Amino acid sequence: MFVSAGSRLAVFTAAGSGPPVRSCGRRERRSVALSWFVAPCSPAIRSTGGRAGQATERLFMGFHEECGVVGIVAPRHKPPSDVPARLAYFALHALQHRGQEGAGIVLWEPDGSETITGDSGRLREIKGLGLVSEVFSDAQLSASRAVAALGHVRYSTAGEKNVRNVQPFTVKMRDGQVAIAHNGNLTNANALKCELEARGTIFNTSSDTEVILHLMAQSLQGGYADTRTRLTDALSRVDGAFSLCVLTTSQLIAVRDPRGFRPLMLGRLVERSPMPAVSHTRTDNTSPTWIVASESCALDLLGAETVREIEPGEMVVIERASGDLHSYFPFPRQQRRACIFEHIYFSQVTSNVFGRSVYMSRFRFGELLAKAAPVEGGADYVIPVPDSGIAAALGFSTASGIPFQMGISRSHYVGRTFIQPTQEIRDAGVMLKLTAVRSLIEGKRLVVVDDSIVRGTTSRKIVHMLREAGAREVHLRIACPPIIGSCYYGVDTPNREELLSWRMPDTKQACDWIGANSLGFLALDSLQSFLGDERGDFCYGCFSGHYPVLPVDA
Ligand code: SF4
Repeated sequence: MFVSAGSRLAVFTAAGSGPPVRSCGRRERRSVALSWFVAPCSPAIRSTGGRAGQATERLFMGFHEECGVVGIVAPRHKPPSDVPARLAYFALHALQHRGQEGAGIVLWEPDGSETITGDSGRLREIKGLGLVSEVFSDAQLSASRAVAALGHVRYSTAGEKNVRNVQPFTVKMRDGQVAIAHNGNLTNANALKCELEARGTIFNTSSDTEVILHLMAQSLQGGYADTRTRLTDALSRVDGAFSLCVLTTSQLIAVRDPRGFRPLMLGRLVERSPMPAVSHTRTDNTSPTWIVASESCALDLLGAETVREIEPGEMVVIERASGDLHSYFPFPRQQRRACIFEHIYFSQVTSNVFGRSVYMSRFRFGELLAKAAPVEGGADYVIPVPDSGIAAALGFSTASGIPFQMGISRSHYVGRTFIQPTQEIRDAGVMLKLTAVRSLIEGKRLVVVDDSIVRGTTSRKIVHMLREAGAREVHLRIACPPIIGSCYYGVDTPNREELLSWRMPDTKQACDWIGANSLGFLALDSLQSFLGDERGDFCYGCFSGHYPVLPVDA
């Protein structure tokens, strides 16, 4: 537990030694940051911007995380039970691909066991490091008596693997307990943190999410403002990406930043055989369980109906007592900037994200790639890098007429390489995960399709593995443009100096380094034209170097 001086805020987390609090106020860091962000990434400046970019990227690495959130509110006629905890648990399972470092569930457990229609009870945390299946036990879930739940899965950069940073964060403010779960990355978190620390605020974590809690606690709206007003006030001061949920002992609030970088879905679970209502109103019988989740795959796994996407800049408030849902748009409008990387790699292939099927996007990326970067003289097979390259490989195969085969087998018992925390583990992990099907590929000319190249080390190992297994030719095709910059909005891409396409902008050079016979990418303008993105509703920052909002240093 810690007390935040000057903020009327107490944070309750598991004990442990967190990373040192980031220091503030070095004026020279600001100039370093701006020198990189003002200059767009282009081949002309690549050779001169290294040190500035490196410093800034290292500076912001501490706040990067890619996460999944879920919020559950049971209908008012339902007595407290283990159902909200179990629903949150399964939803987090569905969102596990968004973060594998830690997981948490906060439960609103009312006083007594009767149906609760007013504010009462407490918020209780269960959380820890590891996968969802490792953090929560059946005994913990069975013992819960809750009417609402808030869940989070987390990924962070190396060096921050600490239970203190595992969300949701639960705090005690003047008007009661508040729990928060956040997906995204704030671009002015460091500046706000320094401002708050100058006022005496003590931070307990290295997460930018904690900045929001302190801003809520110190809201200029005064001591008697409700949670929604305080949250609106706090979020009006932050910039960048946030798709977040806040739980109190009366309501669940779901909010998305005005640019809508990260997805957030609203769903409901309606009982097929309604239980008798406690009161005899029609509302009680038909009141659904409301669910908010990062992706529709979580709603699908729960058997819930997808109601709609929570809009960029929208705040949805779900009141447990009435079962009512209210929608607000409290922030100034901004140009929408949905992260296209959610479609390329990050989201589950079964999800609908930003109103589009992720599977169909990836399939179409593959078709476009086959037309833009065909293999001269043809090939025997198109094979995917499993699993995220499968849909694009099917698209490539369909458009090229080259047969699709699963020439690489993937073990499903090892985590995804991109979200493993260290380079050493990533390097070891790829050989554990992927095995060539020698009997299929021996003596064959292969087109290998992957969703993206980040560092290139995985691609290099795959090409080597296929050659060792007897492949005659390996032509690598990548279903997205070259990644030349880091992400500042919540996807943990590495420092740009580690990115293959930054280090080797010449495709021939990159191809030689990987060891393939040829290398081809999906062009950025093909991607934009497929999306029909004439208004610029998507973010392509890591491909183009043109970022929708520039990080602000302290
Ligand atoms: Fe997505 Fe790249 Fe933009 Fe980050 S910079 S939000 S990963 S498109």
